[in-house]
Amino acid sequence: MYHYEMNEQVIKREKSAARELRKTRWWQTKIACHAKCNYCLKILTKDECTMDHVVPIVRGGRSTKGNIVIACKACNNEKKDRLVTDWMMERASHAAGLHEPRDQGEK
Ligand SMILES: [Zn+2]
Repeated sequence: MYHYEMNEQVIKREKSAARELRKTRWWQTKIACHAKCNYCLKILTKDECTMDHVVPIVRGGRSTKGNIVIACKACNNEKKDRLVTDWMMERASHAAGLHEPRDQGEK
């Protein structure tokens, strides 16, 4: 029986793998010029670029090129350990909530 266990060790390992990736030419080239936040599409300078795990480590995501995108600090902070889909859905429902006509016709 396979039981997936998310433990500190895995998180540590993936975080250090992410740090290693940050040093690679792949990442350096990625953020060198015209880097864009994957979420808000803002053009970022090298210093503004942060690494975001599309599937967060705590959700079983790995520090691989396929799972890492550029995000601005604001988006990275807002997304945190959520899946992109969850985050987007939450945003969308907030936005929809603002425009929803309120039904106050209780009689
Ligand atoms: Zn952003």
